[in-house]
Amino acid sequence: MKMKRCTNSSCRKMFKRSCSCPFCGKLYPRLMGNFTTVLLINYNRDAKIKTIKVVRETTGMGLRQAKDAIENCKYDPVVLYHGSDRNAAMAIAERCNSLGSKAVLR
Ligand SMILES: [Zn+2]
Repeated sequence: MKMKRCTNSSCRKMFKRSCSCPFCGKLYPRLMGNFTTVLLINYNRDAKIKTIKVVRETTGMGLRQAKDAIENCKYDPVVLYHGSDRNAAMAIAERCNSLGSKAVLR
């Protein structure tokens, strides 16, 4: 069985290849099956508050956590949605993109 090392800098544990780290819960969208994942990969600084609001609503993160997540999203994309409802995924991506932030479907 292939092992992979968690890319979360505060985790770095080895685990069997799967869609999430069993130690810290970090998601690995590329290893997932028939699901759609929405990743925030960049944000519009002029719409930062509105983007934080979208992140909080879609992920349930607190204010501080959402702020840190979007500021780091270029290097560590924020998983806004992961599930089998492609329309819901597209709606979330569209909300981000209409703010000038950049979300992609995987
Ligand atoms: Zn981990």
